[in-house]
Amino acid sequence: TFVDGVPVVVEDVQRRSTTEREELLADPGFGRYFTDHMFVARYQVGRGWYDARLTQYGPLPMDPGTAALHYAQSIFEGLKAYAQPDGSVATFRPEANAARFVRSAERLAMPPVPEQAFLAAVDALVDADRAWVPTGPDQTLYLRPYQLASESFLGVRPAHEYLFLVIASPAGAYFPRGVHPVSVFVSEDYVRAAPGGTGDVKCAGNYAASLRPQQQASELGCDQVVYLDAVERRSIEELGGMNLFFVLGSGEDAELVTPELSGTLLPGITRDSLITVARELGHRVTERKVTLDEWRSGALDGSITETFACGTAAVITPVGQIRARTGDFTVGDGEPGPVTMRLRETLLDIQHGRVADTHGWLHQV
Ligand code: PMP
Repeated sequence: TFVDGVPVVVEDVQRRSTTEREELLADPGFGRYFTDHMFVARYQVGRGWYDARLTQYGPLPMDPGTAALHYAQSIFEGLKAYAQPDGSVATFRPEANAARFVRSAERLAMPPVPEQAFLAAVDALVDADRAWVPTGPDQTLYLRPYQLASESFLGVRPAHEYLFLVIASPAGAYFPRGVHPVSVFVSEDYVRAAPGGTGDVKCAGNYAASLRPQQQASELGCDQVVYLDAVERRSIEELGGMNLFFVLGSGEDAELVTPELSGTLLPGITRDSLITVARELGHRVTERKVTLDEWRSGALDGSITETFACGTAAVITPVGQIRARTGDFTVGDGEPGPVTMRLRETLLDIQHGRVADTHGWLHQV
């Protein structure tokens, strides 16, 4: 069942042939192809959640007045299913995504999807499209749960009708030809999130607002944008879709520092997992403010040896070059650092089931 009294109806869908699927899975890229099924449930004020089904992946009928299209009452999540060495499939910490989805819903005045219902929906989709979980090196099935205001009306108020969906898209290795550092542009014109805003939840509008700064970064030859705090414009917050870590010192004694959850950055599940993993590897990990000045001077005097970004999509991405109006700089020699690479391998080993899951992070489907 999805929620009490609402079964998940499994419809017969037209599945693509094995040949067609295998062709797509040979080089899936990211977010280009979708699996055969999707999960859909509806909500109406007064009725609650109803009509949960696994159905054919395809277009949604949508009224031009659909509230989400006008007022962006829309939230989403991102998590992955990993083929395990024994042939089973597991998702990574889906309970954490379910909990974050509830927080996002509450911030946007939407009825939350109960955590158990979120997990049931994700499991149902992964189970139905099990054949779409790729088994190549570092390949995964990316899962996208989302919720939107589907009521048709004009006027700024919480909608009375919602859709909750889950779709799935096979994802190739993020770095098929070896890990490459990204270059980043520190945005001093735009901010991502202000105190009291929506920066600590995953709502669609946050990402729309990141596109212009991202264009600016691209024009300057940079891959990603680094956002500063909105008030003082001094502290490093995060990238448009990844959290940041700084490595101080080197070897086993290296300390990791990551910006504290100030209320204006997204509490990443990869960030949280890495804090645990890094401590187990013997590193001291501190959550605190890190200013742009500290990052620059640390990179220049060698006390900050590595910087990396982390998130579900790319796991860990080293940061090499930094461009800022107040001066460009490079961390280390601009190449992936040893602490970054070790953490990356450790987390990937856990996710792909190559080492024991001592934290209970894998959820068998
Ligand atoms: N920050 C932002 C703004 C994001 O969109 C994401 C991706 N969800 C992250 C950080 C990383 O979060 P997670 O590790 O849960 O994917």
